[in-house]
Parts: sequence; structure tokens; C-alpha cells
Amino acid sequence: MRIAVLGTGAVGLTLAGGLAGAGHQVRVGTRDVVESAEREDVAGWLVGHPDIPLSPLDEAAAWAQVVVNATNGSASLLALEAAGEPNLAGKVLIDVANPLDFSGGFPPTLLVCDIDSLGEQVQRRFPDARVVKTLNTMNASIMVDPTSVADGEHTVFLSGDDAAAKAVVQGLLEDLGWTDILDLGDITTARGPEMVLPLWVRTFGALGTPEFQLRIAR
Ligand code: NAP
Repeated sequence: MRIAVLGTGAVGLTLAGGLAGAGHQVRVGTRDVVESAEREDVAGWLVGHPDIPLSPLDEAAAWAQVVVNATNGSASLLALEAAGEPNLAGKVLIDVANPLDFSGGFPPTLLVCDIDSLGEQVQRRFPDARVVKTLNTMNASIMVDPTSVADGEHTVFLSGDDAAAKAVVQGLLEDLGWTDILDLGDITTARGPEMVLPLWVRTFGALGTPEFQLRIAR
């Protein structure tokens, strides 16, 4: 599939590399191609991934069949607006962002919770996109290499209103090596995985490493 990953942070670059490694055509969307390409981390990554171009957000989204929102959660709506509502219409929009607020320092709080979620905000703002929330409950490295923790015996969640879109995302997750994929239901269920973040942050603090995962034993 043609997949645009929006954002050049750890998640964007890791997912782009993982999805390309799984055989997909990938572009990385960014606000400023020249500025991003000159960043040390991005420049090094581009050397190792010569087949994955950086593109402006709107060009990447227009080209893609599937769009991944890997932008900072506090700016995701702005980034997706820059990608362009018409370029998202009808497309599977995978939302891995977390609505974290670091303005009060560490640990972060949630910008939205309990009665709403970032996944729902994205779906409301882009009603013609087919939003699927997933992969937001783990460190970036595990997203593309689930067997790196507990031999892959752990859970990734799916939330979204569109069953066909969730089937596409399930297939992409399987391409990345996922086996325990738990469909929680419609996009309002994204509240649960997003509110995992306070637990995730404290677990990170207790273990001293982000290399851990949740398993829903059942
Ligand atoms: P991040 O530091 O949250 O930022 C990702 C990208 O967001 C930036 O590279 C930038 O892309 C874009 N961005 C930032 N401010 C923006 C603004 N004002 N307007 C438009 N775009 C803006 O990076 P990350 O750690 O890779 O995380 C990406 C998302 O995944 C976040 O929502 C995070 O909460 C979530 N997440 C992270 C992890 C993890 O392991 N880090 C795990 C699970 C979920 P450009 O500069 O390329 O335009």
C-alpha cells in the first residue's frame, strides 16, 4: 500500500522504516522538508532509508492510500489541517498520537480524557476520514518489532467506527508482526488506550525502561 507517515519524531521515522520493511511504499510527511532533512537524526535516518522520501504534509497525504498521524498530540489537528481535509477524505487515518500536556513538567497530564479523546477529536474534525486509533500504548520500537518484548505475547488495541478501515489496519499490524490485536469498538473506545498513558508513564518510571508492554490476559 502507499502509506504517508506524518511527523519526523521517533514514532514517524520508526513506523515509516517498519512499514517499508514490510513491503509498503512509504513517504514521510513533514512541515518543512529542508529543515527536517537537515536535522541530525533525520539526516542519519534518510541515509539508511534512501527509498523513503520526505514530502510536504499535503503532498504526502494526497499521494497515500493510508495516512498515519505520528505528530505531537498537542498539534495533531493543526498538522492534519496542513495535510488537507480533501487529502484525507475516504482514507484510512491511523492515529498513534497521544494528547500529552508537558506544560506543567513531568509527568505529563492529558489534554483530553474521560468524556472525549484525541481520536474522537480527529474523527469529528475530519468526518470523511476513516480514523483508527492504535499503537499509542507502547514505545515506538515495539510498534514495529513486537517480538522484542515477551516474544510478542502482548496486546495492541484498535478503535474506530469503520469496520473495513479496521480490517486494513489489522492487516498492516500483522505485517509488522502483531498477533494479539484487540478491537475495542468504535472511536469513543480510544478514550481507554489514551488514558493508559498515566499508567504507562509511571511504569516507565518504575522500570527505568520503555521496553515493556501491556498484555490483556484472557
Ligand atoms: P513528537 O515529539 O511528539 O513530535 C512528532 C512530530 O510532530 C514532530 O516531529 C513534528 O513533525 C510534529 N509537530 C510538532 N509540533 C507541531 C506543530 N505545532 N504543528 C504541526 N506538527 C507538529 O514525536 P514522537 O515521540 O515521534 O511522537 C509522535 C506521536 O506519537 C505523539 O503524539 C506521541 O504522544 C505518540 N506516541 C509516542 C511514542 C514514543 O515512543 N515516542 C509512543 C506512542 C505514542 P515535523 O517537524 O516533521 O513537521
